[in-house]
Amino acid sequence: MNYRMARIISLVLALAAMGCIWFLTMSEDPNILLVATTGALFISALAVHLIFYRCPHCRKRLPSRGHPGESCRKCGKKLDS
Ligand SMILES: [Zn+2]
Repeated sequence: MNYRMARIISLVLALAAMGCIWFLTMSEDPNILLVATTGALFISALAVHLIFYRCPHCRKRLPSRGHPGESCRKCGKKLDS
C-alpha cells in the first residue's frame, strides 16, 4: 500500500467512525456492537495511518496535517518515484 492509498483509506475509516458516533448520539439506546464497531474503525484508521503513511524511500512518517508535498522532508526524494 502506498502513502496515497493509506491516506485515503484512513480518511474513509475515520469518516465511517464519525458517522457511527453521529448515529450513537442520535439513538436513545446505543448498542454495544455499534460502540465496538466505532472503536474498531478509529483504531484501524489510526493503524493504517501510522503503519502505511510513510515515505516509500526512507520509511519516515509523513506529516499528518496538510499535503505531504512533492518530496520527502526527511530524505528529499520524490514521493511518487
Ligand atoms: Zn524519505
